[in-house]
Amino acid sequence: MRYRKFGNTGLEISALSFGTMRLPTYDNQPFSPKIIEDEAIKMLRYAIDQGVNYIDTAYPYHGEQSEVLVGKALKDGYRDKVYLATKCPLYKIKREEEFEEILEEQLKKLQVDCIDFYLLHAVNKSKWKDIVLKFDFISKLEKAKEQGKIKYIGFSFHDDYETFREIIDYYDKWDFCQIQLNYIDVDNQAGIKGLKYAAEKGLGVIIMEPLLGGKLADPPVEVSKVLSPKKTPVEWALDFLWDLNGVSFLLSGMGTMDQIKDNINYADRSDKGMLLDEEKLMFEKAKFVYDNMALVPCTKCSYCMPCSFGLDIPKIYEAYNKTATSKFEAAKAMYEEIEIKADSCRKCKKCEKVCPQDIKTSEIMPKIHEAFQKA
Ligand code: SF4
Ligand code: SF4
Repeated sequence: MRYRKFGNTGLEISALSFGTMRLPTYDNQPFSPKIIEDEAIKMLRYAIDQGVNYIDTAYPYHGEQSEVLVGKALKDGYRDKVYLATKCPLYKIKREEEFEEILEEQLKKLQVDCIDFYLLHAVNKSKWKDIVLKFDFISKLEKAKEQGKIKYIGFSFHDDYETFREIIDYYDKWDFCQIQLNYIDVDNQAGIKGLKYAAEKGLGVIIMEPLLGGKLADPPVEVSKVLSPKKTPVEWALDFLWDLNGVSFLLSGMGTMDQIKDNINYADRSDKGMLLDEEKLMFEKAKFVYDNMALVPCTKCSYCMPCSFGLDIPKIYEAYNKTATSKFEAAKAMYEEIEIKADSCRKCKKCEKVCPQDIKTSEIMPKIHEAFQKA
């Protein structure tokens, strides 16, 4: 495993870290609380044995069961081999005391006295203003640090570059941040500009969604044609990020042992500045093709679920996104299998309030149903 400097923390973290939001489940539903414990624990411990030393979880993952699973996986001496990260669920906060209450609950679920890296989860403009500033969560983070309950303070982010800068500039003691980046999202959200800005300020920068919710693992055929066959689409997507100056390490939500083994092999070969100029150009072309395919930028994070009217929102988007590729028949078959169709959307917009990708689901769903009807 290769290790990389993590901002000004003085720590060395593995190039690949393990996100625990896509663990194997009995009902085969992503993010379901029915985690196959033995298998998930085996996977986490295998990754740690191979040198992965950063494990990331969060309050809502797997129906609030991911932290419990991670707590179990880190028994038998594994806690001492890793840095543990979890996040304050801002979306849930209604009262300021909930910061302390939830942190205590997380320590219990994880069965630890201290969380190494504590993040404000999915900060955007409104959560920053209406929760973090309103309830002075920065002081609460500092107090938790003084009490030895957390060690390093950071935030994960989904909004535009200006908001990102505002948050970074507000507090000069951020240790790290976590941003969405991949070869499609270079100008989206914090983007490459945000990466540079944070890194220059000495923050460690963790990259999430390196595969855009899995879409870059099996990209549309037209995009695959642009990528050289020298490497798999996954390896290309990860190498794009490892190459970039300012990237500390990548967070990957791994769900199978094969994925873990492949990603560890890729991490072993990774380095800053590893790409040739023509390879960088290849990514620009791939992005151009991708951007012109009218895909919905859903990463299947499931924060919008459950929909009160029974729609499986990420699945409908998955089926729809397949129509923009040459997998049209598969897309149609997938949509046909979905019991509650897109036209059942009642436009309540509940899902839109929590979507980190800012997807206007209430507007898109009727169009999707119409497109499939016409097809
Ligand atoms: S807007 Fe539509 S899809 Fe979203 S929660 Fe409401 S009914 Fe469900
Ligand atoms: S619609 Fe938004 S919140 Fe729902 S799964 Fe997709 S990206 Fe996540």
